[in-house]
Amino acid sequence: MFCYQCEQTFRSDEGVGCAGPKGMCGKDAATSDLQDILLHVCEGIGQYLHRARALGATDAEADRFILYAFFTTLTNVNFNAGKFVQLIQQAAQFRDRAKALYETAAPAAGTTPETLSGAAAFAPAKDMSGLLAQASEAAIQKGAAIIGEDVVGLRSLVLHGLKGVCAYSLANTPNWDGTLEFLIRLHPQGAFSAYLKDHAKPDDQILVKGPQGGFTADETSQAPRWFVAGGTGVAPMLSMLRQMAELGDAREARLFFAVNTQEELFALDAIEELKRTLPNLGATICVWKPDSDWPDFAGTPVAALDAVLAEGATRPDIYVCGPPALIEATEAASLNAGVHHDRIFSEPFSPA
Ligand code: SF4
Repeated sequence: MFCYQCEQTFRSDEGVGCAGPKGMCGKDAATSDLQDILLHVCEGIGQYLHRARALGATDAEADRFILYAFFTTLTNVNFNAGKFVQLIQQAAQFRDRAKALYETAAPAAGTTPETLSGAAAFAPAKDMSGLLAQASEAAIQKGAAIIGEDVVGLRSLVLHGLKGVCAYSLANTPNWDGTLEFLIRLHPQGAFSAYLKDHAKPDDQILVKGPQGGFTADETSQAPRWFVAGGTGVAPMLSMLRQMAELGDAREARLFFAVNTQEELFALDAIEELKRTLPNLGATICVWKPDSDWPDFAGTPVAALDAVLAEGATRPDIYVCGPPALIEATEAASLNAGVHHDRIFSEPFSPA
């Protein structure tokens, strides 16, 4: 695989980009390749729609599909390779529709339609293995030997600009007044972070689409719920705990919330409020490198989780959200303690 769609991308003296069996965010090679193919087919849709629009013919549904396709390829929105096989077939149908639109609009406007090549003529295979065999035709670096790295870089820059969106988890619960609460870390090189830090002001309008994810509490299970969160990964945990509070769900719940230093702590007031409304909620605030007088857990949330799992026979449902390394360590500790892999729910994130 090769991916450099986010700033968490792997950097070394040899260059920039996640190349190997998995990216830094946990994205696997198949998903990465299929995302490239989906974007390649969207490029083909765009070639036709752009020309058709110049002749006064538009397809709003195809426009919306491209936005949706872009969204699915964001850093960690969707790692389900099978879903991308379906989306690529759908994209090919929209591309054929866009082609027909253009080829009808051109003679009606007194011109001869161009015969397009490249992405416009790309015929995606119908199944996963066929698509993966086509991956090099759609890769980020496609044509680099001819057009050069600068053009490849510019092409990616334009694509990132067109995507222009970031994915965040909701921290609050569904409500009728339309309030959305997010916990967003300001990342020094993040595009949206820069907007929030330097330009955002009250009453700005921002287009929000969602919710898109499936990281929610499993309501079919009666087991205790334990939540492991690194940094802003606490957002979906607050959402699930608040939902439990609203429903009066009195089952045992534990939150292991981790930051690196005490200066990074946040959302403690929200956690305290939840402890008041959920009497069976225990919260362990883990600071990796605390001051000597830190009253709670000093160390990683996985060490805290490990210690509590070792105390008793409880086998809870485990929810974990944070960087890929935290996800992997939590899964390993939970499996080691006898938690069935079906009872571990995870959501990796990358800064944006
Ligand atoms: S999205 Fe994942 S695989 Fe791609 S550059 Fe970012 S961390 Fe690497």
